[in-house]
Amino acid sequence: MKDKKVLKINKLNKTYAKNGLDKVEALKNLNLEVKEGEIFGLLGPNGAGKSTFINILAGLVVKTSGSVNVWGFDIDKNPRQVRASIGIVPQELNLDPFFNPRKLLELQAGMYGVKKKDRITDTILEMVSLDNQAQSYSRGLSGGMKRRLMIAKALVHQPPIIILDEPTAGVDVELRKNLWENIKLLNKKGVTIILTTHYLNEAEEMCDRIAIINKGELVALDSTENLIKKIKNKIVKLKLNKNIEISDGSLNSLKVLSKNNNLITLSYEKEKLTVGEIINFLNKFDAEIVDMSTDDGDLEDVFVSLINN
Ligand code: ADP
Ligand code: MG
Repeated sequence: MKDKKVLKINKLNKTYAKNGLDKVEALKNLNLEVKEGEIFGLLGPNGAGKSTFINILAGLVVKTSGSVNVWGFDIDKNPRQVRASIGIVPQELNLDPFFNPRKLLELQAGMYGVKKKDRITDTILEMVSLDNQAQSYSRGLSGGMKRRLMIAKALVHQPPIIILDEPTAGVDVELRKNLWENIKLLNKKGVTIILTTHYLNEAEEMCDRIAIINKGELVALDSTENLIKKIKNKIVKLKLNKNIEISDGSLNSLKVLSKNNNLITLSYEKEKLTVGEIINFLNKFDAEIVDMSTDDGDLEDVFVSLINN
């Protein structure tokens, strides 16, 4: 059943009422579809509306308007079936500190009405590499272990869809890798993964397709490969041994984002200019490069270049 739509969002809106007259439009006419078996990334800066979206799916936030269909079930008509179809890993760690991982998973299974004989507690603990900590108090677990325990909790009812909200927040680099491996493994077993992040490189590494939202609006939705191609701008930061005269347009597509004596930040379009050409240009001034770094620009730059397409 490939290409079955596991998630279908139509004209989804959420407006929060904030102290009296103030309103926050957290989601504006959002349309999305997620296919079975994919890893789908929802990317956007802080405040974009990612958690609002996830919390609507989780039944924690009530949408203002629009339709949400999960695994063929409408969230208004069949909220229980929707809940049974997804496992949610929320952004905040909310674990009872006095229960051990095994107990927490057993309680969670009970909450989802999973019968004792159908529980797979030990399999899950092994899968997230917490089998050795099965009997330890949750409060004694490291940040990465807690995060993995949150994933484990989302798996007790064996849902076909797992949704993770900023899964790497507060997880150090080493454990991050381990976390991604866990998620990829789940995906290999046929689980559809939906995750949010505000890191482009993370989404790029993990996801088959990426949606970008900004201020509640969808600004891009494409395969990861196509999306990365569309990001036209690169940024180069330079520290030179002397002050030089460089301005917008000195080279094709070159923009001077900031210049503070010999510290310069430039942006350029990767299809029109290379770092090599920039270095050649600097050589004409007999300027020596003391330090240099390049990156893909932050998400805001990505939005600008996508919106201007
Ligand atoms: P993200 O997860 O992408 O950082 P959120 O969904 O948390 O974004 O927030 C989107 C917008 O909605 C923000 O402007 C945020 O301040 C606002 N918001 C989120 N939750 C509430 C709430 N319970 N009440 C009022 N405003 C909220
Ligand atoms: Mg969030």
